Amino acid sequence: MLGLVAFATVAICGLGIYDGQSGKELKFTKQAEAAGGMVKSPTGIAPDRYAYYPGTEELKKDEIRLIACGTGLCRLPGVTRLPPVSWSKSEMATSSFSISAPAPWSMWPPLMIPYDFLDKIFLTHLHTDHWGDLATIWAGGWTAGRTGPLRIWGPTGATKEMGTAYAVENFLKTYTWDARTRNVFLSPKPGKITVKEFDYKAENAVVYQENGVTIRSIPAIHAGDGPVSYILEYAGLKVVIGGDTFPNKWYIKHAANADLAIHETFLTPSDLVKLYGQSPGQALGVGTQIHTSPPAFGKVMSTIKPRHAVGYHFFNEQSTHDDVLMGVRETYSGPLSLAVDNMVWNISKEKITERMVISPDQAWAVAGPNKPPKPPARGSVPSEITDFIEAGHWGPADEAQADLIKKFKAEHKMK
Ligand SMILES: [Zn+2]
Ligand SMILES: [Zn+2]
Repeated sequence: MLGLVAFATVAICGLGIYDGQSGKELKFTKQAEAAGGMVKSPTGIAPDRYAYYPGTEELKKDEIRLIACGTGLCRLPGVTRLPPVSWSKSEMATSSFSISAPAPWSMWPPLMIPYDFLDKIFLTHLHTDHWGDLATIWAGGWTAGRTGPLRIWGPTGATKEMGTAYAVENFLKTYTWDARTRNVFLSPKPGKITVKEFDYKAENAVVYQENGVTIRSIPAIHAGDGPVSYILEYAGLKVVIGGDTFPNKWYIKHAANADLAIHETFLTPSDLVKLYGQSPGQALGVGTQIHTSPPAFGKVMSTIKPRHAVGYHFFNEQSTHDDVLMGVRETYSGPLSLAVDNMVWNISKEKITERMVISPDQAWAVAGPNKPPKPPARGSVPSEITDFIEAGHWGPADEAQADLIKKFKAEHKMK
């Protein structure tokens, strides 16, 4: 379903978009190179030009796969008025990455990437829509196969308590009960978080370098000091992952000629009033000063000229999509994706393709090749349950499951 929605986007662009005021057709470069191929016989198979089925394609050595997980259309039930959960994840032939922000927990397992490979998170800034779902990745990965600590990279702030290390330290304090009760049954190792905090003011400084992947950071202008954007280089390819920002000189300079340049484009102020119920003053401030408006996004892209531009961070649905697209097209006519969750790009020297992830809504996490560390010996970590609660144990439940336990023990040769 989502796939159809997303590719309607491409189809609209392919058919032509007309300027609302002059009525003139706007000429654009093609959106991506996903289309093509043919069905050779009545019983033949169609080319996979729209769909990426997770876990079915080996990445080539010099290729990057980037999957949008949290582009702005908030999918967490019950919090539809919260700001969008934001960006994204890329995996390399050599290693896997989680770039910038944890996506909703439900999005990860269907991608068929073992949690042990999803152990690196690069935070752009500490607004809730960009790291609010960290708990589910942290605890979910701990239970579902991560073998070592979660690794987080993020910027300092103007003061200590505005930085990533402070945020993570206090995140862990918040989850004291969770961690202590888990530590009784699970190895504490995957429950740890290591933080590499780097200077938010540093321009194009290397923050990560492993397995042929280099990630650099540049400052961003957004709400307060601290936010950054990331530049990822691998196999001679450059992908820029813009965090929340007003268009800034650092992005213009260092994102120039990127293979794929991601930058936020916010809703138009008119849509913020109409659809989000904001006052005109608030809408103008948020839509043109704290974030990047569609024409400003277009100006950034027509200046840096990436091979492919990606806009995100707006509620991309029928009532907003065309307004954002028309705004962008006032100032940029190059290749463009307006991202939705589960959009996937394959990036190589030869081509950039855009498709949609097709996956089930419910999926188990897939196991990786490394065994999880051994849990502590029984009784070695004191129970968090007191005698008072223990005394509430209801005997008939033990009788009811006695047979189940007996069969299971026999099956697994347990004493
Ligand atoms: Zn923000
Ligand atoms: Zn945001």
